Amino acid sequence: MNVAPKTLRYLSDLEEAGLTLAEKRAALEKVAAQYAVAITPALAELIDRADPNDPMARQFVPDAAELKTRPEERADPIGDDAHSPVEGVVHRYPDRVLLKLTHVCAVYCRFCFRREMIGPAAAPLTPKQLDGALGYIAAHPEIWEVVLTGGDPLVLSARRLKQVMARLAAIAHVKVIRVHSRVPAADPARITPELVRALKAKGKATYVVLHANHARELTEVARQACARLVDAGIPMLSQSVLLAGVNDDPQTLGALMRALVECRVKPYYLHHGDLAPGTSHLRTSIERGQDLMRALRGRLSGLCQPTYVLDIPGGHGKSPIGPNYLSRDESGCARIEDFNGKLHRYPPAP
Ligand code: SF4
Repeated sequence: MNVAPKTLRYLSDLEEAGLTLAEKRAALEKVAAQYAVAITPALAELIDRADPNDPMARQFVPDAAELKTRPEERADPIGDDAHSPVEGVVHRYPDRVLLKLTHVCAVYCRFCFRREMIGPAAAPLTPKQLDGALGYIAAHPEIWEVVLTGGDPLVLSARRLKQVMARLAAIAHVKVIRVHSRVPAADPARITPELVRALKAKGKATYVVLHANHARELTEVARQACARLVDAGIPMLSQSVLLAGVNDDPQTLGALMRALVECRVKPYYLHHGDLAPGTSHLRTSIERGQDLMRALRGRLSGLCQPTYVLDIPGGHGKSPIGPNYLSRDESGCARIEDFNGKLHRYPPAP
């Protein structure tokens, strides 16, 4: 009898799978005691055991470097708590809220900005807390969009998601429901026709935003999972995190953006790494991110251009962080830089 491969959750699983070494066990136990560990079979298969710098391993395999927390790093790097009026809701921007249904994920990313809040031990929203969260959304007519996040909402059953979508569909002023997930790539088999149907809410637009950081994540089965969503009329966008040693070179980043567009997933955000504790070995400089964005522009189709953003530490929201192609000369005339780095004048308004 064939036994289905299981998600790797313990250091003994990782050692058995050839992903970590027994001699590193003591340090990695300290990491695992602080930050959740899980690698799905679909992602474990993508890790090249022979490459000590494998980009998949850097994203998912715990590393002793995570034990080093820098002074500027913080437990809540994007300031969710400061904007949480009721349990499970983050209301940072006027017209949209985050609704965190679960703190569980299919896979635990080593750079996660919510790593202090997520994991299998974190309590899910209770029915009473969910009532409170939906009551808050219903009582605020300015809320046009609800972003289901977490954790990863697509680890929930189709039945549970259907119930939540039906309750959101009953709130007239909510027009758009956006689902943030890694599941289409991390565990593509979960994107069943039943789950896809559950994500459709009568009279509302559902978007699914896929988190993917390397083209290798978009395997044939992951592409089929995305196709099931898109073919059902659910538009897809992507968010990626700029990560040192994972995607911080123009070829790798460009290949990711092209792979996404080929899957009918429009690149939306490229996030600069957040100041999450124990993640400095995965962060790049902002200047590096801007250079990479310059390398994408012109060389790759406009469809492949995400917006490079930083979530300002402390809860001040996201801002685009360039690069900037507009400057002014001494006479106040605009200078626009083209994709080859050449400057061109544009006259002032008459
Ligand atoms: S899937 Fe998202 S919330 Fe979960 S560990 Fe990865 S980045 Fe964090």
